[in-house]
Amino acid sequence: MPIYRAPVEDFRFLIHEFLEVEKHRDLPGFEDLSPDLIDDILVNGGKFCEEVLQPLNQSGDEEGCHFENGVVRTPKGFNQAYKAYSEAGWGGLGGPTEFGGAGMPVLMTMALSEMGMAANQSLAMYPMLTAGAYGALIATGADWMKKNIVPKMVSGEWAGTMCLTEPGAGTDLRLMKTRAVEQPDGTYRMTGTKIFISGGDQDLTDNIIHMVIAKIPDEKGQTHDDLSTVNFFMVPKVLVGEDGKMGARNGVTTGGIEHKMGIKGQATCVLNFDNAIAWRLGPKPTPPKPGEKRSSSAGMAGMFGMMNAARLGVGVQSIGLGEVAYQNGLAYAHERRVGRALTGPKEPDKPADLEIVHPDVKRMLLQARSAVEGLRALACWTTLQMAIGKSSRPEAESAAMLADLMTPIIKAFGTDLGFEATNLAMQCYGGHGYIRDNGVEQFVRDSRINQIYEGANGVQAMDLVGRKLGHKGGAAPIALFTLLTGWLTENEKDEALAPYFKGVKRGVETLQAATMWLAQHGLQNPNDAGAGAYDYMRLMGITMLAFLWARMAKLSLGKDDPLHKDKLMCARYWMERMVPECPMLLERVQAGSATVMQLN
Ligand SMILES: Cc1cc2nc3c(=O)[nH]c(=O)nc-3n(C[C@H](O)[C@H](O)[C@H](O)COP(=O)(O)OP(=O)(O)OC[C@H]3O[C@@H](n4cnc5c(N)ncnc54)[C@H](O)[C@@H]3O)c2cc1C
Repeated sequence: MPIYRAPVEDFRFLIHEFLEVEKHRDLPGFEDLSPDLIDDILVNGGKFCEEVLQPLNQSGDEEGCHFENGVVRTPKGFNQAYKAYSEAGWGGLGGPTEFGGAGMPVLMTMALSEMGMAANQSLAMYPMLTAGAYGALIATGADWMKKNIVPKMVSGEWAGTMCLTEPGAGTDLRLMKTRAVEQPDGTYRMTGTKIFISGGDQDLTDNIIHMVIAKIPDEKGQTHDDLSTVNFFMVPKVLVGEDGKMGARNGVTTGGIEHKMGIKGQATCVLNFDNAIAWRLGPKPTPPKPGEKRSSSAGMAGMFGMMNAARLGVGVQSIGLGEVAYQNGLAYAHERRVGRALTGPKEPDKPADLEIVHPDVKRMLLQARSAVEGLRALACWTTLQMAIGKSSRPEAESAAMLADLMTPIIKAFGTDLGFEATNLAMQCYGGHGYIRDNGVEQFVRDSRINQIYEGANGVQAMDLVGRKLGHKGGAAPIALFTLLTGWLTENEKDEALAPYFKGVKRGVETLQAATMWLAQHGLQNPNDAGAGAYDYMRLMGITMLAFLWARMAKLSLGKDDPLHKDKLMCARYWMERMVPECPMLLERVQAGSATVMQLN
């Protein structure tokens, strides 16, 4: 069975040394974040994931979910583990205290989430989705929902989902057909089919609160193929009165579950809404004026908030899977005897040396590790920017923009690198990784979906280039380059840092050139922006990680303990092996779209 040790030491390094969280106790949610509390969450959360979630990962994959007589059953052991998770309060870690949660900031919920995903992505997704749903309900719901529904979700008694996708509408939500018609009492009746809904049904909780988007028909009873009438709704599986009491089953039924490549313990459901009672969330929509085309509606704001949190969460899923895969690849390379070291036998008395002696094996493992630890640093740093963004500090606005800019990077670059890490770890096992017994191929299968859902990675790249770069006159890239060039100016004379400094400089210069090129060409020819978006996103990801690795290297220089020495090793690897991709990526961006567009 695969092993997993929660990376508590690395989180301690990132939280205390790298982010210097003690200096940020003024931020919202950080007030009570004492070193003891941080340790308590990391150590006990990590232990829970290692001891309760991880042992069910392989069996959950083997058994999968069942759908019998309209009812979904999760794999053996999931129910008890989910209840233990909820009873220990982990599901409410980030929930506001007034609703029974622990009120911890995203920095800590993200750390717990990464460990849960590494241990058992299928199982850890149920509470993750619930946290996203209760966050949206707190942001947009009526008082009675906050009073009587949110606490039940925070405690884990009830779960939540996010229902966007339909058979004809995944990326392109304009095409959705589900409709909600207003009733005299102010509620709505919803009809339509949602597909691929994670945790859409399960046997873990008594009730499920679905957060659904649907169109409200105009006065002629028609819906349109745009987003102007899309709104955000709460649709409970079992009806809930304003007093919080459960009533009859609502008109939401499960049409079936999907049979998938990975995350088999996670129930991915078809949900049919047949005149289901729905409550609209957020502001009441005003109908578009004649001839008016809207690209969004006020009602979608709540959904976007939930989706942004989920995109960070999906990136973190891949960091977790990359970590657990790396740990197993490394362990295997220390057990397996194969060949001899290129410079002569390391253990001449043994029939062969350990696999770890081979440079190519070390390369694969270092690629996985520097990616995972670099991405973890990026995720932690981004959650800090999110918190600063919500504060009254003078830098709040630029911090919020940086966090926003990094969201598609963590989602798409993070899931690409996380998937690559699982694949490299499997490679370390040779054929023994491809067969099921060792459990490492499951990591590859499980992590693959992270590149697709929550907006396919190519769509994230388009969001970065098409929306985020130009928004408010390019304020976000300006904030990013101010940060990066400021660091370069501060550190240009530090000789000990020179090898790392060079890498950051190279990344920043190529990223600036690519940004300029897209600004000049993308507006004239949108296909140029579209064709270069993916390479641009990777270029920004590599540069950001170079910047963070250089900062971690600076903290590690002159320190002789294994953690800091390893940080220097990974930082060097990133500068030597990943940063050289930057000029290549720039060249690809500058190649434009002419050739790409030739494909019919
Ligand atoms: C296991 C699983 C769980 C899921 N969980 C949920 C859930 O809980 N809730 C939910 O609502 N949905 C969920 N989904 C749905 C998921 O978010 C969608 O599958 C995803 O957004 C892509 O939509 P689609 O499958 O319709 O692909 P399409 O929209 O048809 O896109 C196909 C491909 O075309 C490309 N593409 C499309 N548009 C563009 C564009 N504008 N620019 C560039 N390339 C583009 C992309 O490469 C994309 O992968 C889940 C899916 C799966 C498989």
